[in-house]
Amino acid sequence: MKDIVILGSNFAGFTTAIQLKKRLRNKREYRITVVSPSNEFLYVPSLIWVPFGRRKLNDIKFDLKPIFKKKGLNFIQKAASKVDPDTNTVFLTDGETLNYEYLVVATGVKMNFDVVDGLKPEDHKIENIVIPKLAIKTKDAFEELVKDSGPVVVGATQGASCMGAAYEYLFNMDKELRKRKVRDKVDLYWITPEPYLGNFGIDGMPGGENMLKMFMKMYNIKWITDASIDKIENNVITLKDGQELPYKMSMLMPPFEGADVMKDSPKLVDAKGFVEVKPSYQHIKYDNVFAAGLAVQVKPPFEIKNTPFGVPKTGYPSDVTGKIVAKNVARLINGNDKLYEKEWGKIPALCVMDAGHKEVYLLANHLFRPRQFAILVPNVFNDLGKIMLEKYFLWKNRNGLAWLP
Ligand SMILES: Cc1cc2nc3c(=O)[nH]c(=O)nc-3n(C[C@H](O)[C@H](O)[C@H](O)COP(=O)(O)OP(=O)(O)OC[C@H]3O[C@@H](n4cnc5c(N)ncnc54)[C@H](O)[C@@H]3O)c2cc1C
Repeated sequence: MKDIVILGSNFAGFTTAIQLKKRLRNKREYRITVVSPSNEFLYVPSLIWVPFGRRKLNDIKFDLKPIFKKKGLNFIQKAASKVDPDTNTVFLTDGETLNYEYLVVATGVKMNFDVVDGLKPEDHKIENIVIPKLAIKTKDAFEELVKDSGPVVVGATQGASCMGAAYEYLFNMDKELRKRKVRDKVDLYWITPEPYLGNFGIDGMPGGENMLKMFMKMYNIKWITDASIDKIENNVITLKDGQELPYKMSMLMPPFEGADVMKDSPKLVDAKGFVEVKPSYQHIKYDNVFAAGLAVQVKPPFEIKNTPFGVPKTGYPSDVTGKIVAKNVARLINGNDKLYEKEWGKIPALCVMDAGHKEVYLLANHLFRPRQFAILVPNVFNDLGKIMLEKYFLWKNRNGLAWLP
């Protein structure tokens, strides 16, 4: 038996596994094994709704085991601890090892809380919505805020890349505070490393800055761009320019780095633990190693002059890169050395930003400039698109239809 090992089972890992199995249906000598500490698929984008009770975790996840079994995929529910690409070995945290002919890395990210003192969850100062247990804790903090209101700071630290989700959380918080009739007791601040509102780490979209400014004014939210945090103390955040922002509650998006397993596999990654790949998502040195989704190294295609920030890696390109990797591994196995290429920045932009009972569609032919087509389409009546996308994505994956867009 020849082994293909996929590390990670969410957007990128799941798509790669299902697609690869389909492409290799006639190659019975190949066994595909997915390794992940979690047996659940989690629709991460809906974590923004968990703090406001609009979604419970059970609404946005499903058990992967039945679908993997049905598709004939081997699943090991364990975490990998490191990879040695010279001996084609994956080490698991329990000491077991796996050998592979091909390896796909889709292990997502780890948050870097060291970027500023006081940011760590155990410091009990700043809330976070990136992982389920912290999103649930943020719900408790929000309920406290409703009972005993005061100023709120929402945003992203220097070096962050996932500003879009923080914007969504901000607008949903404004909406929920109004619904609970305490919005007038809350001074709401938005702080971001972006040089201008709506940069989103992709150098903006036409009309984006004006639209975001309009939302901020309409919702009475004060904003600070190019913000770099100096320190976080109990009830006050100090920026590097000396501004002090008092807060009763705060949610800040930290920067992301590669998962520990990849940081501990230095031959495959850059200094931040992201896998260095060619436009085919094949590793730059190891031809039998591929990466997809958040695990991939993506350099900003523009110069960052002041406060550092990163490029967002959203669900659609994570799914697309999973499909490209499946296509390319299958090509190599079928003796075709000409790999399909699509640089990250040339993948189309397809995203919905929830703006609290409103939403904005971000559509462009390329994620990064130059783009021949880029448009923001607001829907001011509801956020039905965001809801439909969640339902579609969960339905598609629960039924193993990962080939759908
Ligand atoms: C709050 C929030 C809101 C977002 N909103 C949007 C949105 O509205 N639209 C959008 O397009 N994108 C959004 N994103 C981004 C989107 O969630 C990511 O692009 C997507 O999750 C990336 O998929 P991935 O498979 O690369 O990584 P992940 O989804 O993070 O999956 C990583 C996988 O690796 C596994 N893993 C981790 N460590 C190991 C290990 N040691 N060994 C083996 N497996 C391991 C995990 O169990 C998991 O299965 C949002 C992100 C956040 C945090």
